[in-house]
Amino acid sequence: MPNHILAKHISAYVGKEVTLKGWVYNIRKSGKIWFLIFRDGTEFIQCVVLKDQVPDGVFELKSTLTQESSLAVSGIVQEAPRQEAGYEILVNNIEIYHISEEYPIALKEHGVEFLLDKRHLWLRSRGPYAILKIRAELEQACRDFFNERDFTLVDSPMFTPNAAEGSTTLFETQYFDRKAYLTQSGQLYSEAAIMAHNRTYCFGPCFRAEKSKTRRHLTEFWMIEPEMAFYDIHDDMDLAEEFVEYLVQRALNKCRRELQILERDISKLESVKRPFPRITYDEALKILHKKGLELSWGEDLGAPHESAISEDFDRPVMIWRWPAASKAFYMKRDPEDERYVLGVDMIAPEGHGEIIGGSQREEDIKVLLERIEKEQLPKEDFEWFLDLRRFGSVPHSGFGLGLERTVGWICGTHHIRECIPWPRTMVRLKP
Ligand code: ATP
Ligand code: MG
Repeated sequence: MPNHILAKHISAYVGKEVTLKGWVYNIRKSGKIWFLIFRDGTEFIQCVVLKDQVPDGVFELKSTLTQESSLAVSGIVQEAPRQEAGYEILVNNIEIYHISEEYPIALKEHGVEFLLDKRHLWLRSRGPYAILKIRAELEQACRDFFNERDFTLVDSPMFTPNAAEGSTTLFETQYFDRKAYLTQSGQLYSEAAIMAHNRTYCFGPCFRAEKSKTRRHLTEFWMIEPEMAFYDIHDDMDLAEEFVEYLVQRALNKCRRELQILERDISKLESVKRPFPRITYDEALKILHKKGLELSWGEDLGAPHESAISEDFDRPVMIWRWPAASKAFYMKRDPEDERYVLGVDMIAPEGHGEIIGGSQREEDIKVLLERIEKEQLPKEDFEWFLDLRRFGSVPHSGFGLGLERTVGWICGTHHIRECIPWPRTMVRLKP
């Protein structure tokens, strides 16, 4: 066992001597006392250095220590209710590992492009630190939610022979002597997996060559996709809202400190309780019309439309029953009106946009074949998928939740690129 503790466990050591190992976040000096704001990747702690309590050499470190120097700090833990962390350290000794060169990210405002170029260092700053901690907790929550509910994790492949979500955003790659595509969604494979496991989910990166520079699109993002046999669209929506409520609750229960660092308005998250409002696409058009945002029937909602609709609700809203033309070939036609499909989008509050896309799937091979022909999709590539409708076809449904969009909403982050450790967009492939 190492002889140091992690800063996050400091509350268990009040009145005792501990050693912490980490980095200098900041230094404040005033005469016979100086303060080291220390971070070790689990908490930010103020360490108090008093001239008459430490050897001279240690006190003089105030003029040699630089931001991001690495060190071991030993001292007594004290309660400090006025400190964010609630505790501080009265320092006895400091040992240096490395004196950092002048750190490019000073503790002041920098342009976001500069920070993204320095992402390998920016990860250490408070905001990115808190967001990625929350992301990690939510990833775990995604797995827990489905594992606790009889779902089996069945991973889907990253290399695929064809498109799942429209050919305009496909990334093509050389695959020996032919072409392959990076996966846009694991759904089609999950539809096969549920015939073996009943309820499944896949969770991994998806790739879409998004040519638009919005604050909601990455070219590489993570999606969790549950798929359920014998679920109709209403069961699908019930599960989606239960899942999203669970994720928000997890953040509220486990990530208070990180949400505090991000200055997130917690009350906005506390109101995220089931049931979520459900409106049809046609009702959404009416709301938009009242707000003076015209959209012709059949068109997909854009970001301004999604924001306008979310304004009316204090929790996510589900828009379902979409015009068939605006949605993918695999969505089930509404038996009551063929012009519609049983698809659903969930829109996050506060203008964070769509976080979930889902649907009941078409289980009738005849209808599916018609749609494949109409959309001029290569039928040979879908033969295996059509087999699922030949051998014990069942009604089934599923959805995909975008991890970064969800993290962005829960954290209150303006741009989705801050919600993934190494963002990839049309204009960014480095570092
Ligand atoms: P949008 O209309 O916003 O591009 P979409 O309809 O293409 O979304 P789906 O195909 O339904 O999205 O994908 C399911 C979910 O995956 C979305 O609700 C969203 O949360 C996420 N998602 C889709 N594309 C991206 C992207 N380029 N970057 C980040 N997340 C995405
Ligand atoms: Mg899209």
